[in-house]
Amino acid sequence: MSRITSLVGDITKIEADAIVNAANSSLLGGGGVYGAIHRAAGQELVQECRLLHGCKTGQAKITSGYRLPARHVIHTVGPVWRGGDEGEPDLLASCYETSLRLAAEYSCKTVAFPAISTGIYGYPADLAAGTAIKAIRSALGDLPGIESVMLVAFDEQAHAHLVKALKRKED
Ligand code: ADP
Repeated sequence: MSRITSLVGDITKIEADAIVNAANSSLLGGGGVYGAIHRAAGQELVQECRLLHGCKTGQAKITSGYRLPARHVIHTVGPVWRGGDEGEPDLLASCYETSLRLAAEYSCKTVAFPAISTGIYGYPADLAAGTAIKAIRSALGDLPGIESVMLVAFDEQAHAHLVKALKRKED
C-alpha cells in the first residue's frame, strides 16, 4: 500500500504522531487551519509557540500537541503566492520536506498535512497538490521510519486535486 493517502476531513481530529500547521512567520496568530489547530489544542500551544521566536518561510518547528489527538504539531510557513516566479514551488516543497525530516527526528511514524498555502496565502490548489506530492515522495525515499503521510483536504474540491496528483506518475 502507498505510504501517501488523501482524505477529506478536519485535521484537528486526526490521530497522528504529528499534524502539520500552516502558520505565518511569527507562529502567533492567523485564521484558517492555524485558528482551528490552536482552538483545539488549547492555550498551552500558543505559549510554547512564543518560545520558538518565529520560523522562516519554507522551514518548520515542532511543539507538543496538548489537547489534540496528535502527539506533536509541526508548524511550517508556506509561501504567499505571488504568481509563481518568486520561488514559491521550491519554498512549498521545502515546507513538506523539512516537516517530514523533523517528524522523523522525533520518531513520528504517522504525519498529517493540510494543503499548505492554499487558503489565505492564495497558492492555486492544483499546483500545490502536485508540488506537495512530489516533495513528499522524494523525502520519503530516505525516511523509512515514516510509515504513513495523510493529506487532509478540507473540502471535496481540494481532495479532487490531491487524488489527481496522486494518480500522476512520479515525474
Ligand atoms: P495558508 O495561510 O497557508 O494559505 P490557511 O489556513 O488559510 O493557510 O489554509 C490552508 C488550507 O487549510 C486551506 O486549503 C484550508 O481550506 C484548509 N483548512 C482550513 N481549516 C482546516 C482544517 N480544520 N482541517 C484541514 N484543513 C483545513
